[in-house]
Amino acid sequence: MADCLFCAIASGEIPATRVRESGRTVAFRDINPQAPVHVLVIPREHYADLAALTAAGDGLLAEVAEQAALIADDEGVADTGYRLVFNTGPEGGQTVQHVHVHVLGGRPMSWPPG
Ligand code: AMP
Ligand code: ZN
Repeated sequence: MADCLFCAIASGEIPATRVRESGRTVAFRDINPQAPVHVLVIPREHYADLAALTAAGDGLLAEVAEQAALIADDEGVADTGYRLVFNTGPEGGQTVQHVHVHVLGGRPMSWPPG
């Protein structure tokens, strides 16, 4: 999709620190990390948000989730624990309109979120 930051990262047009790739996903470090481990997993194809991704109904959400779990393992936080976040819509704090899951770990996470 034109003018989409994460489509540009997926295509390699904009650089990012990639940590893992699968057939239909790319994962890279967040530019403004909120935890010692802060990785974003995105589908290569453009979907605006979680609802659009689930509507596709072709197993892509499962691939995103699987990659997130593998990244937690790669980053050494699978045993200590980690948090997966899909910020969705304005009140959910979504700033990039290409669905992504945050993989956060390496420090205790507070609850509820602010
Ligand atoms: P969200 O607020 O859930 O839409 O998350 C968007 C995330 O993308 C934020 O945590 C940003 O720090 C991150 N971000 C924005 N631009 C870049 C970039 N060029 N490379 C990596 N992460 C980015
Ligand atoms: Zn996009």
